Amino acid sequence: MDQRDRPSPIENIRISWWRWRLPRALEAQFQRETNAERNRRIRWWHGIGVVVNCINFLLALWSVPEHWQLSVLLYFGFAMPILFVSRHLLAAPLPRWQEMVASFLPPLATQLALLTVFALSPAFEFPHSMSLLAVVVIWIGAPIPLRVPEAVLLVALTLLLGGAINVVGVLLHDAPFAYPQFIVGSLVVIAVSLVNRLESERRNRQTFLSGLLLRRRAEELEHANAQLEIRSNTDALTGLHNRRFFEERLAALWEQSALTAAPLAALMIDIDHFKKINDTLGHQEGDRCLAAVAREIKRSTRHEQDFVARYGGEEFVVLMAAANEAEACASAERIRSRIAESPMLGFGPSRPQSVTVSVGVAVMNPATTDATATALIAAADLALLSAKRTGRNRIMMGGEPAEARTGALVTLVPSLRRSA
Ligand code: GH3
Ligand code: MG
Ligand code: MG
Repeated sequence: MDQRDRPSPIENIRISWWRWRLPRALEAQFQRETNAERNRRIRWWHGIGVVVNCINFLLALWSVPEHWQLSVLLYFGFAMPILFVSRHLLAAPLPRWQEMVASFLPPLATQLALLTVFALSPAFEFPHSMSLLAVVVIWIGAPIPLRVPEAVLLVALTLLLGGAINVVGVLLHDAPFAYPQFIVGSLVVIAVSLVNRLESERRNRQTFLSGLLLRRRAEELEHANAQLEIRSNTDALTGLHNRRFFEERLAALWEQSALTAAPLAALMIDIDHFKKINDTLGHQEGDRCLAAVAREIKRSTRHEQDFVARYGGEEFVVLMAAANEAEACASAERIRSRIAESPMLGFGPSRPQSVTVSVGVAVMNPATTDATATALIAAADLALLSAKRTGRNRIMMGGEPAEARTGALVTLVPSLRRSA
């Protein structure tokens, strides 16, 4: 079974609110991908903290007007600056401990301002102060999206700080202090905020896993589509492009050449007496020969620039963009001579056999002719026919041997003269 057909291990990961952490690598990825979003939400809650502090300040002025200077100092000289500085710091990625301090300080400062003013108020009562503390702890522990360890630590710090301020209030006002109430209340708020945090950690990871799974599926689909496209454009035996893709590329290259006013060359290549190879050595050897010839053609053409396809049977075609007659003939000669000069091509060392090809070359400039791309291939085909008729193992272009059209070829490939 292909690796990609197997169900992804991500599907098998089960997370619950008491066991929320992911396998190590995934957990690290989760932290990387969600850090910025968590800090953005913490900053949002710190923004809410600014509003809360404004309301608290007004309440303080109303309930303890005699301590207005202390209220101004606590709210505007202490809690608010901490909120703004922390919000600013959290806008950029921070090391974890700095992130923790920037997340912790605003709620602690808010709580300190609120409870201190209340502790000084003549209306101070321990149960009321405890309710305020519970509201603060739940506000901190439930919605602020801290990591679980940080959330636990912050709740503990809040309870300690809040408890200490309450004790000061109790001492100042000689009010009754109810230990059991304090302990039970603390445990309840710890439990509420912890359960909430764990549940939200579970939910976040579940969302992350679903997103990851979706992304993986999309990648697999894209890969499968790309593979399918390659397969549908490729000839299975030779690995070259197939006839269907050739037709597509021919039309595209013809259009491109018309736009750039550059010539387009076509080389039609046919193996000589191939039927004899099949008849004497069998079809399997014939197939090996086809694959070997395809390899030689590919090696002899311009890497990337030239388009090579199996046209059908033992025929191949090469399209050369922006190639003139001399370049097309030189390429054809390279193909012909390389194949002719590898005597063992496709047959193994024990049975040396020479394989030759005939090539028909045609070059047209789509910008200066009314002809179509089909005419280019027909012209190359006609040239190939004439190469066959005049003895094979040669290159023809427009009814004459290629070397007669391009003087350069004669010096380039002396073997052509010998074989002609
Ligand atoms: P010519 O020099 O005139 O081209 O002669 P030829 O024998 O090469 O040409 P012909 O058209 O008579 O024979 C082509 C042969 O190629 C016939 C066919 O069986 C064989 N052929 C076509 N496709 C394949 C293939 O995929 N594998 C094998 N082994 N043979 C194939
Ligand atoms: Mg042939
Ligand atoms: Mg043929």
